[in-house]
Amino acid sequence: MKKTKVKVNKNEIKFKLKKNDNVKIMTGKANTGTGRIIRIDVVNQKVYVEGQNLVKKAIKQKKQNQKAGISEIEAAIHISNVRIICKKCGPTRIGTKIGADGKKTRICKKCGDEF
Ligand SMILES: [Zn+2]
Repeated sequence: MKKTKVKVNKNEIKFKLKKNDNVKIMTGKANTGTGRIIRIDVVNQKVYVEGQNLVKKAIKQKKQNQKAGISEIEAAIHISNVRIICKKCGPTRIGTKIGADGKKTRICKKCGDEF
């Protein structure tokens, strides 16, 4: 079967999280730590959080001087499972505010502070 490619206009996706945001992982798993977003997968609505949701991955030896073995890497987490951390309120949702100049800023939905 041929895979059909889904075309996504990146500008149309309302992606509120940004790289380097501090987030808390809210999944039911034991691993519910906090960390910094190191990578964003806009198309799949997923983020990679530094040091969180680690999975063991076998590394195959490709070069002679490279060691084969098991290494831990960050696995993607769906954005619905992470919450941005507000300095005042802790994990929260992001709201948007449109300023007088028409620029959008991200704010905490609880206290209204800008991120
Ligand atoms: Zn807040």
